[in-house]
Amino acid sequence: MDIPQRISRIREIAYNIWFSWQPETHQLFSLMDRQLWEEINHNPVKFLLYLYPKRLDEAAHNSVFLELYDHLVEKYDRYLHKKTWYQRQAPSPGLLVAYFSAELGIHESLPVYGGGLGVLAGDHCKSCENLGIPLVGVSILYKNGYFTQKIDHEGRQKAAYPETNFNEIPISVCRNQDGTPLILPVPIKESIIYVQVWCQIIGRTHIYLLDTDIPLNNPDDRKITKQLYGGNRDIRIAQEIVLGIGGVRALRKLGITPSVWHINEGHVAFLILERIREKIKEGASLQSALHEVKARTLFTTHTAVPAGHDLFPKDFVLSNLGQMVVQFAISCEAFLALGWDHEHQSFSMTQLAMKNAVRTNGVSKLHGEVSRKILNNDEITWITNGVHLPTWIAPEMSSLFAQYLGWDWMEDYTNQHRWKKIKLIPDQLLWQTHQTLKKKMISYVRYNLYQRLKRNLAPPSVILESLNKLNPETFTIGFARRFATYKRADLLLKDPDRLARLLNNPKQPVNIIFAGKAHPADHPGQEIIKRIWHLSQEKQFQGRIILAENYDIHLARYLLQGVDLWLNTPRRPMEACGTSGQKAALNGVINCSVPDGWWPEAFNGKNGFTIGGDQDFPNECIQDQEDERSLFHLLEQEIIPCYYNQKDHVPEQWICHMKENLISIPHYFNSERMVQDYYKKLYLPAFRGYN
Ligand SMILES: *Cc1c(COP(=O)(O)O)cnc(C)c1O
Repeated sequence: MDIPQRISRIREIAYNIWFSWQPETHQLFSLMDRQLWEEINHNPVKFLLYLYPKRLDEAAHNSVFLELYDHLVEKYDRYLHKKTWYQRQAPSPGLLVAYFSAELGIHESLPVYGGGLGVLAGDHCKSCENLGIPLVGVSILYKNGYFTQKIDHEGRQKAAYPETNFNEIPISVCRNQDGTPLILPVPIKESIIYVQVWCQIIGRTHIYLLDTDIPLNNPDDRKITKQLYGGNRDIRIAQEIVLGIGGVRALRKLGITPSVWHINEGHVAFLILERIREKIKEGASLQSALHEVKARTLFTTHTAVPAGHDLFPKDFVLSNLGQMVVQFAISCEAFLALGWDHEHQSFSMTQLAMKNAVRTNGVSKLHGEVSRKILNNDEITWITNGVHLPTWIAPEMSSLFAQYLGWDWMEDYTNQHRWKKIKLIPDQLLWQTHQTLKKKMISYVRYNLYQRLKRNLAPPSVILESLNKLNPETFTIGFARRFATYKRADLLLKDPDRLARLLNNPKQPVNIIFAGKAHPADHPGQEIIKRIWHLSQEKQFQGRIILAENYDIHLARYLLQGVDLWLNTPRRPMEACGTSGQKAALNGVINCSVPDGWWPEAFNGKNGFTIGGDQDFPNECIQDQEDERSLFHLLEQEIIPCYYNQKDHVPEQWICHMKENLISIPHYFNSERMVQDYYKKLYLPAFRGYN
């Protein structure tokens, strides 16, 4: 990368994930080569590698570019040097949180996340960084990441695992003082594997990513970090050993000394074992090692489904962790007891984490209650998830808010009071902004759809019909999430005739856009995709039911900024929190949800719509029927008439809901409030308790 001196700091910005939530970086890179910027998935490092060098020289002499560049660099420096929220708190010298997560959804150019858990982890790190809460992240650098999805001509999901070239993404190899790559040994079974460490920078915060794909390892071990959630049980435990044990060792080797250890979901709980081993090696008894480790360990559970917890058979654990057992110098029974699950007669990563953490928390109020039940532990607390507002807000909305909430509103978005000024925005203007985002979303979805139909050799008439009904005047519902069966993407599809009447009402037409991946091993999930696909082919649903492929951060952003209604239909109480509705809400998009996850905490009667009540049902079948009935009723009687009650193309009542939504939801359901809660309720007490 030969970059002209005048714009040399563009490289530094390309390597700092801070770029990802600056609208100006998108403008800057688009100015050089818009098409390339889109093609390479907004990855600035790859962009600079592939750009014609001539374009860089031109940019360095272009006054428009230079003005934007100078502005961005200044903003960057200001950001890095400003006094943070954390610096304004009472000082806690020595506080450093190690945040371990098996997936991290930071940006579309780093496909090392599967869905909500990863995106949440990414937002957690970003908000700690924004507030200055001292944190290091640890995760895995998956060579082939999570799969990309294509839908074929019969509605089947085709999964592919494209390889990521690590030299083309914003990370760099960690090195020893002599310049050689930092590599550390990790014990597995009877042998040793070697782990290389990479670093990703978010502002001032460092994320360390572990990678076994190096020549020191044999070909099988190189594949340990190949796919996220892709392998068999052997690979799964190997990944968890690399992450938990290797992660602690990496931090030690880097000279980093965390004082609080945060386990983000059970996958990473082996970090407990490595820390116990360290203490025993220093001469502590097992008892005191357990005690000391526990005092500084926190565990967040994200699962509301008992089957979602990692379980391993006894002998399997002993053979994989045999070297640990020897170093602990305890019996196999005592070792297994650290994470034994009596109910399932297995070693459970959730139990390992819960038994050895000073606090365990769920991720919404309701999920806290559910976790207390399913994990049989009355002490579980909860902190409701939130989303990183600067990542998820559309720049158009953000500029509009700046006019009415004050130019510095982004510095202060947890302030409920300021959001009341949303009332001052003229309806017309809020609506125009929403419609602009809706048009952008539609052209992106059209492109997505066109690519698929063309690839699958659909007849031109079908292509036209499908693309043409996507229209900014039409009420548009978004349903985008993993196609896990409990999310019930098919809730509306069980009565196709009623649905057809609903969607094709000539005065009040409706479109529904679906998107999502089903895990390649989740066959019922893939059947739902097929079902949606099949319906979307029927004459009555062409262009009314739309299936967009390859749901990722990029597609998510378009959808949840541009639809009118964000639909959420999990089978209560299986959604631990859900975060996509929070992202939609901060863009003025209305939520329509069953009272599960975060929604019961947010719903106030005016800021969205709730499907059904919070009663328990005798069985799933009745629950599904009741929820289906409520949802149809709500759409037919309330939601759609409200939207189409328009004066001069402006739906006044609908806009009331939008404003109420903006006033009551984003100030709280954001990750800045969330990490402040973690800091006050968990990080600080764990840190102080030990001292
Ligand atoms: C936010 C997000 C999710 C999580 O959404 P849920 O509401 O929890 O289903 C999943 N995938 C992507 C790409 C996201 O951005």
